[in-house]
Amino acid sequence: MNDVNDRDTMQSMDRLDGAATARWMRLYAAALAEHEGELTALDAAIGDGDHGTNMARGFAAVERKLPGLEEQAPAAILKVVASTLISTVGGASGPLYGTAFLRAAAAVPGDAALTLTDLATALEAAQAGIAARGKATRGEKTMLDAFGPAVDALRRAVETGASLPVATRDAAAAAQAGAEATIPMLASKGRASYLGPRSQGHQDPGATSTALLFAALARAAGAE
Ligand code: ADP
Ligand code: MG
Repeated sequence: MNDVNDRDTMQSMDRLDGAATARWMRLYAAALAEHEGELTALDAAIGDGDHGTNMARGFAAVERKLPGLEEQAPAAILKVVASTLISTVGGASGPLYGTAFLRAAAAVPGDAALTLTDLATALEAAQAGIAARGKATRGEKTMLDAFGPAVDALRRAVETGASLPVATRDAAAAAQAGAEATIPMLASKGRASYLGPRSQGHQDPGATSTALLFAALARAAGAE
């Protein structure tokens, strides 16, 4: 007999419900635990070496709050994620990701599973939240350099009528390419900006954790 995960992935999902949203957060928590050392090493090169531990700690706390939330709408889950991150993750990334999830939660219907259009709207609001909170724009070597291309890919997918799995897979690829494209960039926001030209030649840790966030979304949405 198939369990719920198998059924969801086999029948190409067209909406992200509470169970899929919870799965997204669990997959992200697992990816952060797996990549904690790598994220910390990236942050040690151009920051203070805590991004991996910050993110792994925050999403371990998120994971502990998930049992029982699967039945709720995605908006309610995203709100819990936001408040958990704001209270457990220090540094720049806690408030930034916290704001992102809070804006995403506020941008979607409070009581329904998310269509691809809802998801694009949510993540566009999240991106705008990071930009406002961080006073940053794309090209400054931050998480926005992965978030922006991913949101663009989702918007394109809405326009072309792509399925949720295909759209999220494309968004994950765009986020990964965006993270890699931060390597030659000069940082002008956050701790990395203190290094000036020495920030060049290193991949931004926040953009790297954002690429993992979109990779987890694609898997939760049933992409290959
Ligand atoms: P801290 O820099 O306080 O130690 P983290 O190491 O957890 O916090 O997070 C660093 C990441 O946060 C950076 O790699 C960058 O992507 C992101 N970041 C830092 N400052 C900003 C900002 N002003 N706007 C957007 N993102 C930022
Ligand atoms: Mg840091």
